[in-house]
Amino acid sequence: MTETQTISHHQAPTTKRRNGHAASPGNGVLDTELKAKEGRGAKMQLVWRNIVLMCLLHVGAVYGFTLITSARALTLVWTAVCYAISGLGITAGAHRLWSHRTYKASFPLRVFLALANSMAFQNDVYEWARDHRSHHKYSETDADPHNATQGFFFSHVGWLLVRKHPEVVAKGKKLDMSDLEADAVVMFQRRHYLLSMLLMCFLVPTLVPWWLWGESLEVAYLVPGLFRYALQLNATWLVNSAAHMWGNRPYDIRINPRENRFVSFSALGEGFHNYHHTFPFDYSTSEFGWRLNPTTAFIDLMCALGLASERKKATPEMVLARMQRTGKDPNTGTSTGSKSG
Ligand SMILES: [Zn+2]
Ligand SMILES: [Zn+2]
Repeated sequence: MTETQTISHHQAPTTKRRNGHAASPGNGVLDTELKAKEGRGAKMQLVWRNIVLMCLLHVGAVYGFTLITSARALTLVWTAVCYAISGLGITAGAHRLWSHRTYKASFPLRVFLALANSMAFQNDVYEWARDHRSHHKYSETDADPHNATQGFFFSHVGWLLVRKHPEVVAKGKKLDMSDLEADAVVMFQRRHYLLSMLLMCFLVPTLVPWWLWGESLEVAYLVPGLFRYALQLNATWLVNSAAHMWGNRPYDIRINPRENRFVSFSALGEGFHNYHHTFPFDYSTSEFGWRLNPTTAFIDLMCALGLASERKKATPEMVLARMQRTGKDPNTGTSTGSKSG
């Protein structure tokens, strides 16, 4: 059987069933227990250190943006390369591989993805995946780290500027993370995160253009360094904010995540968010293949090179049946549902 056939006929791995869904680490089964308790029970506590650092980063990034015209052409190419690599460290690495286990990656690919993940500096893979599993399991409740019912700013960046809600901590501790604890690459990155983050997010992006083609240290630090880092952060955050607010819901009209093309473009294919929350085990996070989805193209390339395998995919029949069951408003028969129209 070819890989393609394996893909198109794969069903989500099923060990136990709960609420009609498969239950396994990272499969994103929504726990409806907390759904009734909307609104934050605990008062938000500001973390001033994070607020100051985030402000400084964005001031530096805006200044870096103004320096783009004085950067050398190769430095701009390097900025795009760093954006793509660090983006894949989140999308193909922390998200599709480690949070959801949608495909298998060989040791060399996992090392690359862990380094790329450090370049994105969004906390280590283990913590990112734990937060993300909470986001799927307790979506839009107090236990969702970036609960979108708290508004655009909170789900975009505000959640990183306050102490975690006690429910996020309590429910996060109960998640099954044994698969990541058994992954030597993930645990090595976690142990040496500070060093790998400083090296990959700041030193490598700055030193390569300075050393190889004589770019000024100021431009090298501010353009492929701070500007690229802040742009990447905001692209990722849009998945949690914009893609939970604006767009259509053709797969499940009962949940907030939406299909948002702009987010797909900026976040390397992660904006098909109604699909993704409906079929979290699908390695492509969309039914449209490579369209607006360079992360899917990357995973397919890795499979062709023999570095990845066992991509999981929802079958077209499964998608169609789900769209007919939950994709339409039972009263109006429409499948839109965008808040912004
Ligand atoms: Zn996800
Ligand atoms: Zn989401």
